[in-house]
Amino acid sequence: ADMLVTYPTSPADFDITRLYTRDAIERCGHISVADVGCGYGGMTMRLSELFPNKLIIGLEIREVVVEYAQEQILKQRAEGRSGDNAAVIRSNAMKHFPCYFRKGQLDTMLFLFPDPHFKKSNHRRRIISVNLLAEYAYALKKGAIVYTATDVFELRQWMDSQFALSPMFQEVTDSELKGDPVVAAIGTATADAERALRKDGTHYIKVYRRV
Ligand code: SAM
Repeated sequence: ADMLVTYPTSPADFDITRLYTRDAIERCGHISVADVGCGYGGMTMRLSELFPNKLIIGLEIREVVVEYAQEQILKQRAEGRSGDNAAVIRSNAMKHFPCYFRKGQLDTMLFLFPDPHFKKSNHRRRIISVNLLAEYAYALKKGAIVYTATDVFELRQWMDSQFALSPMFQEVTDSELKGDPVVAAIGTATADAERALRKDGTHYIKVYRRV
């Protein structure tokens, strides 16, 4: 189905003027925060409030979900609340990520509650792998932060193993994360976090820095 997803051929072709208000683009410059597999965009919107001077983009593969998220953002803008710096687009982030972002453009990336793909034969579908981390690292500037969360222990272990294999990332320690507003928001702003918290309260957050 993602054959039908349109995408820019290169970052230079990626027209952001249809995604954000002119005001937001003037204020923020380029996109610097990417919420990958953003789902209904709860966190994308929360990020737009936390970082009013950054352009936030949510990447989501399911069309109906993208439409819903964009509607919510437009509603928020119309009500005069924030959101002029947030947008959600339809994209297969595993395939087309490098088409959107220049080298070192991003300072923050999020992978929140990605699909677990339990079966071994489906591990190649996981959105975090050592190969994809190399692509993501290209778009991240030095010192950029990558937030990951899951309520699936097995996926946590997988993501840890992939980050450990990548020389481009270093784990950020818990003490460095004290008071981090994004970590605080992860527990509340995403649909899946809410579900995980209802279930048994477990979700595993880990944060990495692009070295
Ligand atoms: N991050 C959101 C949250 O925390 O509530 C949504 C989590 S949901 C379990 C995972 C999302 O990733 C789904 O909405 C799915 O459609 C999306 N997704 C899966 N593969 C993707 C891909 N290759 N590119 C973009 N989005 C993808």
